[in-house]
Amino acid sequence: MIRLPLFIKRFISRFKGKRHVARLQAEPASTPCSLDASSSGKQRWRAARAALDAIEAARAKLVEPTQLHYEGAKAHLEDIEEEHGEPLTFCESCSDPIFEGEPYHRGSDVDLCEACAPTYGDLAQSPASFRDRYGEPERIAA
Ligand SMILES: [Zn+2]
Repeated sequence: MIRLPLFIKRFISRFKGKRHVARLQAEPASTPCSLDASSSGKQRWRAARAALDAIEAARAKLVEPTQLHYEGAKAHLEDIEEEHGEPLTFCESCSDPIFEGEPYHRGSDVDLCEACAPTYGDLAQSPASFRDRYGEPERIAA
């Protein structure tokens, strides 16, 4: 696996997130209620409620084929969390859970697991990609 510098991983992650949000915003939400404002509030509420109920029923049918697998997977995850405890946090880079007692890098704004945490060698190799708490480039002393 190629290990990308952290700042590049963060840029890619933020870019993907913005692209996803932009796609959602580009898709206009349909108006499920066909009644216009001249109808009474009660009529519009009933129509909107019926439209929402129909959408929820359709969504339930989509979920149904995977429901047993979902519940089994969820129970399995709960068993693991019961054994090891819930994760303290998650690695910002690889999304792995970080459990109590594991070494990890606790940054001012992100947590990184041991595998993803920068080393002093990383800092020495590319100091420009590291910033101190004031946003200034890190300086290293020999
Ligand atoms: Zn990680």
